[in-house]
Amino acid sequence: MGRVLIIGAGGVGDVVTRKCAQASHIFTDIMLASRTQSKCDGIAGQITTMPIQTAQVDADNVTEVVDLIRAFRPSIVINVALPYQDLPIMDACLETKVHYLDTANYEPRDVAQFEYQWQWAYHERYREAGITAVLGCGFDPGVTGVFTAYARRHHFDEIHTLDIVDCNAGDHGKAFATNFNPEINIREITQRGRFWEDGRWVEIDPLSVHRPIAYPAIGVKESYLIYHEELESLVRHIPSIRRARFWMTFGESYLRHLTVLRNVGMTSITPILYEGREIVPLQFLKALLPEPSSLGAGYRGQTSIGCQIRGVRDGRDRTCYLYNNCSHEETFREIGAQAVSYTTGVPAMIGAMMVLTDQWKGPGVFNVEEFDPDPFMDALGRYGLPWHEEIDRPLPVEAG
Ligand code: NDP
Repeated sequence: MGRVLIIGAGGVGDVVTRKCAQASHIFTDIMLASRTQSKCDGIAGQITTMPIQTAQVDADNVTEVVDLIRAFRPSIVINVALPYQDLPIMDACLETKVHYLDTANYEPRDVAQFEYQWQWAYHERYREAGITAVLGCGFDPGVTGVFTAYARRHHFDEIHTLDIVDCNAGDHGKAFATNFNPEINIREITQRGRFWEDGRWVEIDPLSVHRPIAYPAIGVKESYLIYHEELESLVRHIPSIRRARFWMTFGESYLRHLTVLRNVGMTSITPILYEGREIVPLQFLKALLPEPSSLGAGYRGQTSIGCQIRGVRDGRDRTCYLYNNCSHEETFREIGAQAVSYTTGVPAMIGAMMVLTDQWKGPGVFNVEEFDPDPFMDALGRYGLPWHEEIDRPLPVEAG
């Protein structure tokens, strides 16, 4: 049905490639391209069910991406490189009139600023070109937006509060490691927190608001209020939302290491001179930390990510909790990946499938909650991420 070009051969790119290969009735030809071709070859070499083409590309360079697209002629590009590459890859897709999908919003390298404005600005040009861009189609952002759209369609007349809860109760046995790209992860967590309330953003000091939240089949974990990019698109597309927050769990050891690293300046993105050469401390730290794709072996425990929603239906108060739990051991057994890469890569593949099968269509730039949630929700369980819903039960985020 379509040819897919996947850019980025990290933890998530590995999962996307394997999952596209599992759906070869949709993805008839697959190419994996990244900055380091040997990483693409390593992944391709482990897939035996269909041939995977590989290529080297610097996705910061629009011309290189355009040339690669012209040579391979994909129907869609799945961008699972880094957020810095979003705009160059969107430019290349525009020039070649090819659909686009990513899992994280654009960030400028020199300032940790998480906003959709840069990518939303492409809407008219994508519309005129007759192509679709799907933004933020991992788990969070991604499935969390689809969960919210699904709840709005099936369970609510109006949604009033939304709490996205993200727990990783897994243990990879390392003193300190991040589950996705360390640079992007640490930029996200060390910024000031922010949530939406009564039509405006409320800012808080980083990790200064936290509370215990109970997660299904895991138990109670201290959860920290942080800013997360899907809050911006969800309050825009679902304007009845009065309050939207995002909570994430962190282990004690993770926070202790992060505090020390921040105190000594290792998480800074301001360049410093070291032996006559400019280096960015956070990029140096990234070079020392384990790659997310290497964490799978021996990773124990599970993740639980969901949306806890309150609103009204037929004039009565209603609650809804939609969530998925995913086991690190099981994802490793299935495709050799840890659950954070898996829960990101599977939705990216499904989003591309939605576009190629015309279930998500319309020219322009869209966030996932703007599309029909039902076929996506159907596919989630089939491709490894079964979900659960609880209606009119107390919301764990409101307990205590
Ligand atoms: P990794 O660091 O494991 O992989 C990133 C890959 O991108 C690397 O292989 C890297 O190449 C490649 N890359 C970097 N720069 C370029 C470039 N200029 N040109 C081509 N390739 C490049 O990260 P993850 O796989 O963990 O994360 C991938 C993306 O997924 C990130 O944007 C992350 O924010 C997002 N994500 C989204 C989530 C969600 O739920 N929505 C959750 C987790 C992650 P090299 O190996 O040579 O360095």
